[in-house]
Amino acid sequence: MATLGNPKNTIEVLQKYNFNFQKKFGQNFLIDMHVLEKIIRAADINKEDFVLEIGPGIGTMTQYLCECAREVIAVEIDKNLIPILQDTLSAYKNVEIIQQDILKVDVNRLALERNQGKPIKIVANLPYYITTPIIMGLFESHVPVESITVMVQKEVAGRMQVGPGTKEYGALSLAVQYYAKPQVVANVPPNCFMPRPKVGSAVIRLTKHKEPPVQVAQESLMFALIRASFNQRRKTLVNGLYNAQGIPYSKEEIAQALGRMGLSANVRGEALTLEQFAQLSNLLGE
Ligand code: SAM
Repeated sequence: MATLGNPKNTIEVLQKYNFNFQKKFGQNFLIDMHVLEKIIRAADINKEDFVLEIGPGIGTMTQYLCECAREVIAVEIDKNLIPILQDTLSAYKNVEIIQQDILKVDVNRLALERNQGKPIKIVANLPYYITTPIIMGLFESHVPVESITVMVQKEVAGRMQVGPGTKEYGALSLAVQYYAKPQVVANVPPNCFMPRPKVGSAVIRLTKHKEPPVQVAQESLMFALIRASFNQRRKTLVNGLYNAQGIPYSKEEIAQALGRMGLSANVRGEALTLEQFAQLSNLLGE
């Protein structure tokens, strides 16, 4: 089987199997070798690595991963792609294809059973409709992971990197930066995919922190505060948190905690850094 990372070979495979793209699965297949090589380089895969690929499509990037890694598990939701993958990956003995929704896969168990619980590497050209639940699910379930190198919508890559004072700053920025160091590796235009997506894309590498950058007594409380303050972005933090369900503090308690941090009672959540959210949750949780 020839390598797939070009339009001609991709079209050949799609025609051979009479494959129809499913919009609902976010299917935009990569057809540019340079982009594929950039992703593989950024993911820094070697022969010791266990790699999880989310959404292999017809196996274009999977072929590259199989060449570089010790073992690859590729999780694909679309049943129609399984016979294609069996064909395009037939030369590789170090790959297993799992037909499943990635959101239903117990990745902790995979890492335990296949990599003795040691950190795994995750690589994907993600289906954009579920980028946030996939990434947050991996972090929040504390999957042992060294890095996540993924293609995402360009705007989402931007949101992962920014700090306070920008309109893109939000719960995703804080969550990603709490768990990992984000680094955009490449911007990728629509013509590198088949079919072309309507949005620009970017490859981002999230390198998991060995130690979290801030000390938090109750992680779940900090994330509840973050979610509540960005759900009601326009409100002051005092009002936003007071009105949020599941946050049991009075306006006075919230204002007092902000005062102890040297912040005004009128401050909005979008002005707080990760350190300040950590400090606020530690004060309120005392
Ligand atoms: N990796 C291929 C490539 O780069 O050409 C395909 C990338 S395409 C953007 C996203 C892939 O994810 C599709 O193959 C799609 O069927 C698959 N997918 C969509 N939702 C999924 C889910 N919930 N779990 C697993 N795979 C999913």
